[in-house]
Amino acid sequence: MLGPPGAGKGTQAARIRERYGLPHISTGDMLRSAIRAQTELGLSAKAYIDRGELVPDDVVIGIVRERLGEDDCAKGYLLDGFPRTVEQARELERFAAPDMAILIDADAELLVARISSRRVCPACGGIFTSRETTDGVCPQCGGTVIQRDDDTEATVRTRLAVYEQQTRPLIDYYAERGILRRVQSMGSIEDVFRKVNALLEQQLR
Ligand code: ADP
Ligand code: ZN
Repeated sequence: MLGPPGAGKGTQAARIRERYGLPHISTGDMLRSAIRAQTELGLSAKAYIDRGELVPDDVVIGIVRERLGEDDCAKGYLLDGFPRTVEQARELERFAAPDMAILIDADAELLVARISSRRVCPACGGIFTSRETTDGVCPQCGGTVIQRDDDTEATVRTRLAVYEQQTRPLIDYYAERGILRRVQSMGSIEDVFRKVNALLEQQLR
């Protein structure tokens, strides 16, 4: 799954995991849990993430390769936020062959508004809006929701610029390979999921 920050990749990926039982592999989530656990990986990744820049390719490629080697990935998996550079896509092909690349797209203004009001629950991985969580409580598990450190307006602008420069070229990359599918991320989560689900059903049939 690829697309600009805030387009809703993570939200849709969670729905796909629910419906199809596919392991949801989010490099952003893995890096954030490494930061919370204060591992060496987390410590080296934190500065990049807080600035809105990408973590170096060799670091993320290493964690993805390791994760894809686990048993639950044997029958398939959903990558969310990886690959994010052409270099990462080339490396991925050395150990996996993606069947489909789903682009979840949206306009920049919508993205900035969405990200600034985004709240996440570290306990269950839920993603919500500030309006759904005015009391700071996760509607899904009762945990405490937080705003991600990199969800401030200034960092969001950097992340969008990084996306344009480093990730957008992947759209052509996968279009040329004939596996790109596009979904506009407007309307409700449910509307978008219907479109994503239609693509998956075609593929799995
Ligand atoms: P979003 O899609 O909203 O930007 P993510 O959770 O996917 O959120 O990523 C958050 C941050 O984690 C990125 O801005 C980047 O610093 C880092 N990151 C995640 N995935 C990758 C990747 N594949 N390559 C490099 N950095 C990554
Ligand atoms: Zn929760």
